[in-house]
Amino acid sequence: MDSLWFDPTEIFVGGVWRQAEGGKLPLENPSTGDVICEIARGSAADIDAAVHAADGALAGDWGRTSALERGRILTRIGQLVLTRVDELAALEAADVGKPLSQARNDAIALARYLEFYGGAADKIHGETIPYLDGYTVYTLREPHGVTGHIVPWNYPMQIIGRSVGAALAMGNACVLKPAEEACLTALAFARLAEDAGLPAGALNVVPGLGAEAGAALSAHPGVQHISFTGSVPVGGLVQAAAAQNVVPVTLELGGKSPQLVFDDADLDAALPFLVGACIQNAGQTCSASSRVLVQRGVYDQVVARMGKAYGDLRVGPADADLNVGPLISARQKEIVTGFLAQGKDLTVAGHGTIINDAPEGGHFVAPTLFSDVPPEHPLAQNEIFGPVQVIIPFDTEEEAVAIANGTDFGLVASVWSENGARQMRLAKRLRAGQVFINNYGAGGGVELPFGGVGKSGHGREKGFEALYGFSVLKTVAAKHG
Ligand code: NAD
Repeated sequence: MDSLWFDPTEIFVGGVWRQAEGGKLPLENPSTGDVICEIARGSAADIDAAVHAADGALAGDWGRTSALERGRILTRIGQLVLTRVDELAALEAADVGKPLSQARNDAIALARYLEFYGGAADKIHGETIPYLDGYTVYTLREPHGVTGHIVPWNYPMQIIGRSVGAALAMGNACVLKPAEEACLTALAFARLAEDAGLPAGALNVVPGLGAEAGAALSAHPGVQHISFTGSVPVGGLVQAAAAQNVVPVTLELGGKSPQLVFDDADLDAALPFLVGACIQNAGQTCSASSRVLVQRGVYDQVVARMGKAYGDLRVGPADADLNVGPLISARQKEIVTGFLAQGKDLTVAGHGTIINDAPEGGHFVAPTLFSDVPPEHPLAQNEIFGPVQVIIPFDTEEEAVAIANGTDFGLVASVWSENGARQMRLAKRLRAGQVFINNYGAGGGVELPFGGVGKSGHGREKGFEALYGFSVLKTVAAKHG
């Protein structure tokens, strides 16, 4: 790792870079299985120091920084990100294993979040409320205070952008705990924030293990809001810990998101999304569309075309920049191959190919497409978090809705149909935080509120909605006669 402009073994607390009290951990490159560097193993004491530093920032310079100035700082960080897109992409590719061009898109998305929240920082207003004679009543939008951000390994830059970006815009002071599998861009982000003039303590970054640094952050009594993205079981633990301190949490826990393809769909337009929405980042995406529900009239055609698209998928190391990179870890590969074993009696409609010279130690899995999968099958019910997709046939709209809504999750859904009335009906009936009509993901959609229902979590990130989530409404009622 010669391209680093920070020391990956350090944590960033109160504007100071230092070694963690908890020691160090190895960091692996998923494309090769090699250890590329050491990172900090933040301890409960390191988290405590970070929370106190954040508290100090709120009582000091950061607490006095105007909304306009907060916006300018975020905008400046975004501009610095744009000057470093290639370096950030190289870090994310080495750390997460995602193909370089996908990592590049993530760096650009991080800059876009900072631009968006930089511009929005001074545009969140309270209101005046007509009340009794002799009163003036108005509301103030205030920061929670210290916000905790527990970030997973699949999209570090994007999740930092949407979560820390919005929290800083509202004037919170952040403690960021990136994932132990991928924390380099979190540290790079902190360096750029420092260079952009973010006051000391407004952002603190403490990498470390979930059960140590993560658990300490979720349970810390000095934290006033927690934003968590990751697995359902850990989301539950974080919520339970936060409940002890009676603080709000935003949980983004993934899904089993369906795309519904009707007989009247424009299949040429749909095809790239049907496959791409699952395969991106090797299927390790919370909003991955791992289920495709297809009406009988076009079923055979869709299965054949998707199967062919899978046949063209090439899997290899991040720097080869193919369609699919490795999974994040040996453990994740084990989880995904375990699911594939459960599909041994199903029909394989297509699969990708791992290139011959892929490094031995990389965590590669060939993408696999199953057809005719019963809706209740484990592969059609569980979040796999790998390049595995199922196709399920249906006859009627009613049946499609029942299948689509028939999992524990509800993050994203899409409808492919030219029938306007059906589009409107299903937008209401599908159980999901986002519904897309004749597209999927809307190109990332920094501006579009995002979050789930059911086991996909609660609370909303992205767009202006995140700014409401990262703030508290205070009502002021003045009696003046
Ligand atoms: P995880 O939930 O264990 O880790 C996510 C984050 O939570 C990491 O920063 C981790 O350090 C932290 N964490 C772990 N244990 C913690 C604890 N006890 N208290 C506080 N923080 C803790 O996810 P994982 O093990 O890395 O992945 C397992 C599965 O989770 C995947 O197979 C996938 O299904 C799901 N996942 C979902 C997302 C998503 O975007 N929704 C992201 C990553 C993983």
